[in-house]
Amino acid sequence: MTTEAKQPPRHAAMDQFPVAGGELLVGGIPLTRLAARVGRTPFYAYDRRLLEARVDALRRALPSGIMLHYAMKANPMPALVAHMARLVDGIDVASAGELKIALDAGADPHHVSFAGPGKQAAELTQAVAAGILVNVESARELPLLAQASDALGVPARVAVRVNPDFELKSSGMKMGGGPKQFGVDAEEVPELLAGIGRAGLAFEGFHLFAGSQNLRAEAIVEAQRKSFELALRLAESAPAPVRFLNLGGGFGIPYFPGEERLDLGPIGDNLAALQAEAAARLPEAELVIELGRYLVGEAGIYVCRVLDRKLSRGHPFLVTDGGLHQHLAASGNFGQVLRKNYPVAIGNRMDDAARESASAVGPLCTPLDLLADRMTLAPAGPGDLVVVFQSGAYGASASPQAFLGHPPVTEVLV
Ligand SMILES: *Cc1c(COP(=O)(O)O)cnc(C)c1O
Repeated sequence: MTTEAKQPPRHAAMDQFPVAGGELLVGGIPLTRLAARVGRTPFYAYDRRLLEARVDALRRALPSGIMLHYAMKANPMPALVAHMARLVDGIDVASAGELKIALDAGADPHHVSFAGPGKQAAELTQAVAAGILVNVESARELPLLAQASDALGVPARVAVRVNPDFELKSSGMKMGGGPKQFGVDAEEVPELLAGIGRAGLAFEGFHLFAGSQNLRAEAIVEAQRKSFELALRLAESAPAPVRFLNLGGGFGIPYFPGEERLDLGPIGDNLAALQAEAAARLPEAELVIELGRYLVGEAGIYVCRVLDRKLSRGHPFLVTDGGLHQHLAASGNFGQVLRKNYPVAIGNRMDDAARESASAVGPLCTPLDLLADRMTLAPAGPGDLVVVFQSGAYGASASPQAFLGHPPVTEVLV
């Protein structure tokens, strides 16, 4: 029998950002000084050194030779994409708009790939002209790619995005298995491969993506192994050797109380085993993993300023100049079923010993505009800076910024 009181689950420590003089440091700059430099609140700040450290840590944990791609829909800020393009081996885009940012950022077109269920004819032509790899998700794309290739005199480089016959267990967002709008059902891939051969497209390989935001290494290991085995089976029907095998990603980061950081050890071991098997059975293939939030999410914060402190029936509400319109995910309205708090702190009162239960809300006229619901925070008032951690991915670009007519949020790479 235990006599310990049961503690409520806590957020993982946000110790990637150091604290000095009671203030959070971003890129080495105290938060109030950074806010003055930005000149306004709210803003998102992304820390270059943390981005570099993340890629370094991954490279150390994964076998060398595994190609690391950045899925830029997680954060398409041009300066950040340019920084990432220098750190990773390739960029994955999901529209012609993202393709432009990736190419402007200096990404090597040979290592850019394009996925998405509704690619437009013009986008496919742009992709062929750019010389990037298109992850085909429908037979409809084949004649469009063939036309573009003929018109431009450039081969259309293609891989097949497969909707696998399994799901990524315990993932936050399932993107494969069962009926899905993504990819081509595994059982129909042999026919599509024959079509690629007939259309004379340059077949390079397969793309499998089972789901995202997974914090369980064993589930990711299982999905990568099953993806690899499926690719081996499908390769038997391929019109050319497999040179590119994207096993997806799905690496999660801890957002909510009780969640812990992913253990990369088993994933690295498994990828090393798959690499050895690939050397024997798909000797021309390079193995790719594509990550979005895992690369950038923990390196970013959202910062807004307290405008008012209201006590309603004894409960303190910190009314801020930021909210749901700029950070939909932290408000709990971006794919969550039950709302939970992101890690939040008062960024200029990190050393205050006093604590109170308070809520941080935004200026919008909806009860959904909530950044922190009854969290234990340093007592704060007008002028203080509310920081939402884990905000480097699916922030500004994934929020309805026009909602209620407030100005767009600023983003800085520090
Ligand atoms: C969204 C997406 C990603 C990135 O997902 P994260 O959870 O941010 O890692 C990777 N690949 C594909 C195909 C995606 O659609």
